[in-house]
Amino acid sequence: MKKFFVTICVFISGLSFAQQTEYVDFKRANGMLNIVLDSSMVKGKVWYNLDMTKSADSIFLDAVNMTFKNVEISVGDSSTQKLDYSNVDNKIYFKYPFQKNQAYTIYFDYSAKPKQALYFLKRENAPQVWTQGQGKYTSHWFPSLDDVNDKIIFNLSTVKQSEYRFIANGLNTINSPLQDGLVKVSYQMQKPMSSYLLAMVYGKYNKKTKTSKSGIPLEYYYYPEDSLKVEPTYRYSEQMFNFLEEEIGFAYPWQNYKQVPVHDFLYAGMENTSLTIFSDAFVVDEIGFNDKNYVNINAHELAHQWFGDLVTAKSGEHHWLQEGFATYYALLAERDIFGDNYFYYKLLKSVLELSRQDLSGNGTSLLDPKSSSLTFYQRGAWVLHALKDKVGDVVFKKAVKNYLEKHQFGNVETADFISQVEKQYGQSLSHFVNYWIKNKAFPYEEAYDILKRQSTFINEYAMVDCEAKTSKCEEYLKYYVSDEAKVKVISQVPELVTPEVFNNSFKVRQAISKHVTKIPESIKSDYESLLNDKSYITVENALYNLWVNFPLERSKYLSKTRKTIGFSDKNVRMLWIVLNLNTPYYDADNKQVLFDELKGYTAEKYNTDVRIKAFNYLNLMKSCSEECLSNLEKAKSHHNWRMVKFAKELSEKLQQK
Ligand SMILES: [Zn+2]
Repeated sequence: MKKFFVTICVFISGLSFAQQTEYVDFKRANGMLNIVLDSSMVKGKVWYNLDMTKSADSIFLDAVNMTFKNVEISVGDSSTQKLDYSNVDNKIYFKYPFQKNQAYTIYFDYSAKPKQALYFLKRENAPQVWTQGQGKYTSHWFPSLDDVNDKIIFNLSTVKQSEYRFIANGLNTINSPLQDGLVKVSYQMQKPMSSYLLAMVYGKYNKKTKTSKSGIPLEYYYYPEDSLKVEPTYRYSEQMFNFLEEEIGFAYPWQNYKQVPVHDFLYAGMENTSLTIFSDAFVVDEIGFNDKNYVNINAHELAHQWFGDLVTAKSGEHHWLQEGFATYYALLAERDIFGDNYFYYKLLKSVLELSRQDLSGNGTSLLDPKSSSLTFYQRGAWVLHALKDKVGDVVFKKAVKNYLEKHQFGNVETADFISQVEKQYGQSLSHFVNYWIKNKAFPYEEAYDILKRQSTFINEYAMVDCEAKTSKCEEYLKYYVSDEAKVKVISQVPELVTPEVFNNSFKVRQAISKHVTKIPESIKSDYESLLNDKSYITVENALYNLWVNFPLERSKYLSKTRKTIGFSDKNVRMLWIVLNLNTPYYDADNKQVLFDELKGYTAEKYNTDVRIKAFNYLNLMKSCSEECLSNLEKAKSHHNWRMVKFAKELSEKLQQK
């Protein structure tokens, strides 16, 4: 999973008291689902194949707030018989004298109205349904196992309206038309996975298919109106897929790879087996690609298909085996695209964040299940980078390959990985493990030393420093230093920006728009050229700063940007409306329409990011009245925790006034 923000994330998995995996092995689950859109319910006919490894008189599945009927069992190949069961404490217990080494099939019908893990939404007035199993528990919508340690082959089917798509894990094997525009759809998996990776999406989508070098079908889903956004959104997907297969050295383990954007997702993306679901906030056009693209999330969720899905951490203590690996391999894939400087700069940024976390007293051992996302993701990635530096590329790569081969479709802990590296390396790594993994403190000085040894760019970046302004600072902006170093100088001494500095890349120009907020006449016309940049962030910053600095020319700036919507959160459009409303002589007879448009963006049908922006602007203008207040009230019970948190805080603030 990849979070939007680095937050304190407590992820605990596999905290199971009854170790059911010791006596029963669930092999396969087939579910024929009925997704009831009107009542936000799911009903299903399910059968589970299982083997007993020890005798027992009862076994269970996790099933939160579900009702059951027609519960039956068959022993081996015999015919079915009624099965005694009880449904308590969010579990269904099947009672039967289960015998060691015997195979059974259990059948049942269930229905549920899930409060989490399965979400029913409306997007552009059409229904959209999607799931999120990690951290939310699949057992809210499909009777399954909260314990990650029993891996199952899941096959989902449904009957759907022909104009909608149903997408699930595995290969779409059946698509048979029935009467009345209905179609039966089935998906089948070949290999087992943990229950939290079970997923489905139901909605209006088109699809584009490519094939990897190794012959794996790559399916890119998109909303029917977004055909022009497919290329920028999914840019580099094939390259990254081919790169990771080669780099990891273990063939992609599933039948295909599907990626589906959904409305108002809880996170940035989620690595369900063979079916990554991601936030449609990452569906971008050509310009949006420059500001906030899907490349990193894309690579991260793809890397999880091996690290997380193929080998799964036994418990929260070893969570870094998923997030640290996904973060590091995503970074390697990005290095292949964006180059070495990009790679080292990101590693440097995480050293700085980790050392800041330690200084504020929030650092933890990497093996602490209560670690922050920063620790699991960035420190985890750093451990791999430092380890590779220590043992060498060849040893590291061989060890990763052996680790995956040995534990494929199973569960792992830290020692499983380390022992494979030690085997190849021929020496004990216990000192390394204590220092980099177990210790509370992150060894940031050593990390920094590694970077300085590996990259001349990092040395230059460290050298360029204008915290105390020197005569050199002007020179830095004139002559060749990296873009990152120039951005640093501009952030430290924005008054040094001269017309020549505008002749730099869009990254440097973006830094000017951000840090040069007092615009001297000498750079005015250059500054105005920022409004033409292919970056919605630059345009938003520049529009605001120009409007503030040159009151007499506000009409000019507003006219120039009146057709720009901006990023998926409508950043330029909303700023434009607010500035327009505050420019009395401009567009005078259109104010009410524009104000209504802004209010409209607080409505439920928009993404959380759009709504938060609109609420913030209305609050700033002290204009959050009836419609806005009623939308704010509704937002408090939204499925997205960011929306809820924001709505509660703003409500409280408004009441205090
Ligand atoms: Zn992740």
